[in-house]
Amino acid sequence: MERQYDLVIVGAGPAGLSAALYGSRAGLKTLILENGAPGGKLIKTNKISNYPGIKDIEGTQLAMDMFEQATSFQAEYAYGEVNKIDENKNVYLSDGNVVKGEAVILATGTKERLLNIPGENENLGHGVSFCAVCDGAFFRDKEVVVIGGGNSALEESIYLAGLARSVTIVIRRDVFRAEEHIQKQIEENAKIHVIKKHIPVQILSLEGKVSGIELENVDTHEKQVIECSGIFPYVGQDPNTDCVQDLGILNERGYVLVDDDRQTKIPGIYAAGDVCQKSLRQVVTAVGDGATAATALEKYAAAMQEKTGIHPQKPVKKESEKPGKALAG
Ligand code: NAP
Repeated sequence: MERQYDLVIVGAGPAGLSAALYGSRAGLKTLILENGAPGGKLIKTNKISNYPGIKDIEGTQLAMDMFEQATSFQAEYAYGEVNKIDENKNVYLSDGNVVKGEAVILATGTKERLLNIPGENENLGHGVSFCAVCDGAFFRDKEVVVIGGGNSALEESIYLAGLARSVTIVIRRDVFRAEEHIQKQIEENAKIHVIKKHIPVQILSLEGKVSGIELENVDTHEKQVIECSGIFPYVGQDPNTDCVQDLGILNERGYVLVDDDRQTKIPGIYAAGDVCQKSLRQVVTAVGDGATAATALEKYAAAMQEKTGIHPQKPVKKESEKPGKALAG
């Protein structure tokens, strides 16, 4: 890893990888920093069926395809946990390294929200899981409970129903938040049951493993216990924005405020994907954000070069990009 880049991207989910593809293809010396595996939420998603042009693809496969494409134009990829980004676009890593970008794109996505009830923390990895794709196989022919009524809860319930003996979805209102067509699939799946107007109050365990969950009726306050081996909370997300807390670019819920170019109010600092304040959080909008930010900042970088006289390193063209072999897009 060097000290100075045209573009530093923090996060290698669909938004970050798309930004890397566009930035590196435009000749910007690009670094992608990620503190997990590339792909972001894709690697925790069983199937993607709403990415135009691809009818059905496993999340891990799409993640790998995006990663390979994003790094095929000399974007550098490195492990890095980012603690802080300052307004001069210095990016501070937990190992003490500091890299500077002419521009920085924050594409750190969101993290799963906890239930914050007794028994949750101590049973993480012992029956409580936030990733059906990663852990679903441990619950083959067992009873599992999913908490939440959004797209994530319902999609992952359908996946779990393919493995578990039964899936009970618990929602706190009498309506789901998820899209209608996913709700329909839930109704049609004989292995999935729904308990409405209940909230989880406590996770129960026996000999170090989850044995059930206690629920409370929101109207009557009556309590009941559902016996189960697995509990999958899907009660929403919170943005990963700790590293930009001091920049004054967040809304009251911690999401990044950006303009049409995905630039924050600080010139040269952009954000893309789920971490932004936006109305639709999907793969398709994340990749759009990444492309928009990288294309806009290319102009910003050019203006900076005019000022500084420093020119970005142009990548060597691949065979497939030489005249007469132009890539689509
Ligand atoms: P979400 O849409 O915010 O849904 C969260 C669910 O959890 C809601 O049903 C909510 O209930 C419930 N909930 C929240 N706090 C709770 C608590 N303390 N106890 C019990 N229930 C609680 O979250 P998400 O499903 O993670 O989705 C996040 C974003 O990603 C959304 O914009 C979603 O559309 C998007 N997404 C899209 C796809 C797709 O396009 N296929 C897939 C996954 C996610 P209330 O409804 O009562 O508030």
